[in-house]
Amino acid sequence: MAAEPVAHTPPKDPPRETDAGDLPTPRHGERPRVVIVGAGFGGVTLAQELADAPVDIVMVDRRNHHLFQPLIYQVATASLEPSDVAYPVRGLLAKMPNATFRLGEVVGVDHDERLLLLDEGDPVAFDHLVIAAGAETATFGIPGVDEHAYGLKSLADGLRLRDHLLREVERAEGRRHAIEEDGSLSVTICGGGPTGVELAGATAELFNHVLARDFPELDIGRARVVLAEMDENVLPGYPADQQRYTAEQLRERGVELRLGQPVTEIRDRELELEDGTVIRSGTIVWAAGVQANPLAGALDVEQGPGGRIVVQDNLAVPDRPGVWAIGDIAAVEREPHPQLAPVAIQGAKHVAEEIRRHEQGEPARPFRYRDKGTMATIGRRAAVANLPFGLKLRGTLGWAAWLVLHLLMLLGARNRVSVLTNWAWAYFTWHKPGRLIIGASEPQEGLRAEPDPPE
Ligand SMILES: Cc1cc2nc3c(=O)[nH]c(=O)nc-3n(C[C@H](O)[C@H](O)[C@H](O)COP(=O)(O)OP(=O)(O)OC[C@H]3O[C@@H](n4cnc5c(N)ncnc54)[C@H](O)[C@@H]3O)c2cc1C
Repeated sequence: MAAEPVAHTPPKDPPRETDAGDLPTPRHGERPRVVIVGAGFGGVTLAQELADAPVDIVMVDRRNHHLFQPLIYQVATASLEPSDVAYPVRGLLAKMPNATFRLGEVVGVDHDERLLLLDEGDPVAFDHLVIAAGAETATFGIPGVDEHAYGLKSLADGLRLRDHLLREVERAEGRRHAIEEDGSLSVTICGGGPTGVELAGATAELFNHVLARDFPELDIGRARVVLAEMDENVLPGYPADQQRYTAEQLRERGVELRLGQPVTEIRDRELELEDGTVIRSGTIVWAAGVQANPLAGALDVEQGPGGRIVVQDNLAVPDRPGVWAIGDIAAVEREPHPQLAPVAIQGAKHVAEEIRRHEQGEPARPFRYRDKGTMATIGRRAAVANLPFGLKLRGTLGWAAWLVLHLLMLLGARNRVSVLTNWAWAYFTWHKPGRLIIGASEPQEGLRAEPDPPE
């Protein structure tokens, strides 16, 4: 189970020409219409880049907000509120006179008629179509993941997990004699990549510093936070010294590491590892990997490893003039990039340039990804960061770098101020404002099809 899996497959065929083919001339108005599927990192950046271009933009998303996925785990662990990590798309586009929004689920595309098909309402005509629909949780076919584990891909996921986790602790308060059999005070996170590490560290801090104070009668020392990773180390792919440091820091915070054993099955309130170990756990979170959004399979385009849409060097979809794919859902044939926000952002900037170049009759150029590094936070004053030029940070310095980068990447000044205020407040007081059980019951987008039954 590897978090953030990235397929680095060798080239099979010679690279295709960096050319989007004969792109269409505007057919749906005086100016070319660019339709963007997805208001995530890629889609929003693309719209911003084209805000002053002589094109009309239609952004389509099944949610009405852009979501800063890297901080969902802080919603789940009561540090931040949903509105801190999300931004309404209409609010964003209101500043762009050439852009409009359509709320809806994309279900297909008619390439001949150049129409994007939605689950409801009229199709959307396009001259350029940019697919930026992201990724979904990969369960790798492991039994019980869908039914019994919580995911971390949407705001609803974060709120459901928060509700459940807090309810489990309340439940333990009322059934102290049965804490161990019941697993109510145990949280198991499957997947020791950055997401799993960050969630494990934050959950341990929630138990040790916040819930211990909220529940003085409860022996919170009996709470278990388990991080299960099939690799021999946490943060697979990170330098060995950072893996060791991360493991030490997690253990210091009370996180129990189960390394080198894949999860083979998840059942109601328990999971099993390959060596037969059964872990009783009232809360099980699946953070073990992503795969391309299954929408890719409905768009009549070529798919590569992980279901990602195969794109040419300039991010154009082969044999589909005017169609582009960026971010988590796309993979350059010769060199699939990691499924990370900077890849989506840089890809969006490149496609914006490609569209401008096309409109001016200039030749296409290949996309070059500039690796800005990777980082993961473990908890207060502990993080690891691998930056360009071989610069490696950890501890307080790494943590500060992580905080600054995440603040800068958030959309909207209000969100930045709110997040900074919450973080600063929590730093001095250990106060977590989101300790609210709100009965989150929005329809699921992925894992766990049913809301929790009433207790
Ligand atoms: C928990 C978590 C933590 C992460 N942490 C980090 C991190 O620390 N650093 C990092 O670089 N990356 C991180 N990532 C990965 C990063 O979030 C993604 O790489 C990035 O969001 C990809 O951007 P995107 O534009 O391709 O897709 P997304 O940002 O996922 O946006 C896709 C959009 O498409 C919409 N959509 C999907 N399907 C449809 C449809 N059928 N119809 C209409 N709309 C649709 C979605 O609603 C969404 O708004 C994390 C991801 C997760 C889940």
